[in-house]
Amino acid sequence: MHKQQNILIIGAGLCGSLLALRLGQRGYNVTVMEMRPDLRKVDISAGRSINLAFSDRGIKAIKLVGLEELVKPLCIPMNGRMLHDLEGNTMLAPYSGREHEYINSISRGQLNALLLDEAEKHENVKIHFNQKCKSVDFENTTALFKDYITSAEFVEDADAIFATDGAGSAMRQSYYLGKKFLFSFSQNYLTHGYKELSILPAENGGYKTYKNALHIWGREAFMLIALPNLDGSFTVTLFLSFDEGEYNFNNLTTKERVLEFFSKNFKDALELMPNLVDDFFENPTSPLGTVKCSPWHYKGNTLLMGDAAHAIVPFYGQGMNASFEDVTEFDKVLDQGHPDWETIFEVYEKSRKKDTDAIADLAIDNFHEMKGHVNHANFREKRSLEMAFEKTFPNDYSSKYSLVTFNENIGYREAMLRGRAQDKAILNMLADGDISSVNDMTNETLKNTLEKVKTATEAILEDDQIAGLKK
Ligand SMILES: Cc1cc2nc3c(=O)[nH]c(=O)nc-3n(C[C@H](O)[C@H](O)[C@H](O)COP(=O)(O)OP(=O)(O)OC[C@H]3O[C@@H](n4cnc5c(N)ncnc54)[C@H](O)[C@@H]3O)c2cc1C
Repeated sequence: MHKQQNILIIGAGLCGSLLALRLGQRGYNVTVMEMRPDLRKVDISAGRSINLAFSDRGIKAIKLVGLEELVKPLCIPMNGRMLHDLEGNTMLAPYSGREHEYINSISRGQLNALLLDEAEKHENVKIHFNQKCKSVDFENTTALFKDYITSAEFVEDADAIFATDGAGSAMRQSYYLGKKFLFSFSQNYLTHGYKELSILPAENGGYKTYKNALHIWGREAFMLIALPNLDGSFTVTLFLSFDEGEYNFNNLTTKERVLEFFSKNFKDALELMPNLVDDFFENPTSPLGTVKCSPWHYKGNTLLMGDAAHAIVPFYGQGMNASFEDVTEFDKVLDQGHPDWETIFEVYEKSRKKDTDAIADLAIDNFHEMKGHVNHANFREKRSLEMAFEKTFPNDYSSKYSLVTFNENIGYREAMLRGRAQDKAILNMLADGDISSVNDMTNETLKNTLEKVKTATEAILEDDQIAGLKK
């Protein structure tokens, strides 16, 4: 595609600003329209997740645009899950047996600001704030905007429009309401919502609890998590049903009930959160959902990317990483030198959609894993064995978590199929008593066990293929 093409990007969030930067680097004329004020000038973090788990797929995209060194200082490594039980006892469960495999906590605002700064350094990239897209005329490749400052409405024209306007995408709504082509769309909410809270820095500016972990208080029906910030604070998120169970968002309506709920379930967290009640009643409660749709593109005119195409629940820490990976994968397709946008969009969607569908399903699985399974004996035994495999035979084994999080050169779907088959193989063998405790194993027994797991995994993958579960 020749470079003088005019590209319109709707939404300057994480995906839109990275896409603008990459297309700017490639020489396209890029105009970005963002509904909110410039986050570098106005604090607009309220209600959105303040920090995010950032891992290898995201890092790969950041490397593509040459920002690795600028992003590094924004990252706090998290080596594992710090599990907190009801009594306040803690246990660090590493994410991997390989020391170089860890995830990072990063500030959404700082990362977004950096991407905007870098995109704007390109003369061919223009970013406009306070401009809300109301609808997209995908047949004519135009979009209707409202300027929030002047209230004026106007139409923008482009050669191709990319909607990176998040889970509530205006362009996706235009596809749906337009009824001009067979547009499939599903939106599934969890019965649980989330609320952000905080652990403030200690008086000396340090961290009140262990810094380099993702803290989890998993309680089967609900859970609390905490990720560190650079200023010594933690952003804490409560995931809780809206209306089920003894305690839910609908019935936590008084200060006394909130304190009772926390002192019964998250005693040690409560001690770190004297600000709990204020946070609880000041911060919004938001829903969590999965959006799947297809096609993402209309001919060669328009394309959905990031959450606009595939919003997922946050339990694998992969929504942003997947949205960044969209840009890496799209860039690869651009490199193939196709003659027109229609072919580019088709090739991209065909290779990408199966992977974003897979991470959407994995993210739901991980919701159950984090709330409860992490506390079950068989699950812990499986994780200990996987850690031992990864540590002792680093080139021979990757758990499902590692495949998804640290193996950026395989797709999410491949990671899901292999990871689920491995889980099934190990859990079956544990249930049948075929595996002894990892603590009693010599290296030779461990090696034999690994071989058995691999054989059983291949058999499961073959069965899945025959059953048509694996294409
Ligand atoms: C509680 C929570 C925790 C999360 N944790 C993680 C995590 O740990 N790791 C991870 O990888 N991901 C995580 N995610 C997911 C991550 O936030 C998203 O996947 C990511 O933000 C998607 O980027 P995006 O640019 O596609 O969408 P967004 O970040 O939503 O950006 C969309 C942009 O478009 C703008 N916009 C919207 N509508 C319009 C319009 N009509 N006109 C113009 N502009 C518009 C918005 O203002 C926004 O700037 C989490 C999400 C939530 C809710």
